[in-house]
Amino acid sequence: MKKFLNRAVELAVDNVKNGGQPFGAVLVKETLVISEGVNELHKKYDVSGHAELLAIRRAQEKLQTNDLSGYTMFASGEPCPMCLTAMYFAGIENVYYCQSVEDAVEAGLGKSNFIYEELKKERPERSIIMTKLPLEQNLENPMQLWKTVNP
Ligand SMILES: [Zn+2]
Repeated sequence: MKKFLNRAVELAVDNVKNGGQPFGAVLVKETLVISEGVNELHKKYDVSGHAELLAIRRAQEKLQTNDLSGYTMFASGEPCPMCLTAMYFAGIENVYYCQSVEDAVEAGLGKSNFIYEELKKERPERSIIMTKLPLEQNLENPMQLWKTVNP
């Protein structure tokens, strides 16, 4: 256990030394490292370039599956809501991390904490304004179509 988390921390430290943010992740199946990732926001204009998401993406491409149930994520930092959500979608049930979102706030990286707080709020109280509009009559209903195609 400890060696995978240590590897994630090592990746995070190297990433900072290379101009990136302090986040590294290692995805493991039993005792085997399947994929790794670091935060790549300093390399690409892609807000989804987080360590855990990149590790998930690489594993899914490598294994040709969306299902990562039974895999364990080792992340240097507590996953943000986006990465946590990706883990839910992928079926990952175990995450080990050693630095919390509160530690990230201390380091001046407060976005994850802010989003976790936002998600606790009711929709109208969130800072992103989401407006539901009716489906136009002349358009096909995508969810009805899905239901028809997948009875
Ligand atoms: Zn993330």
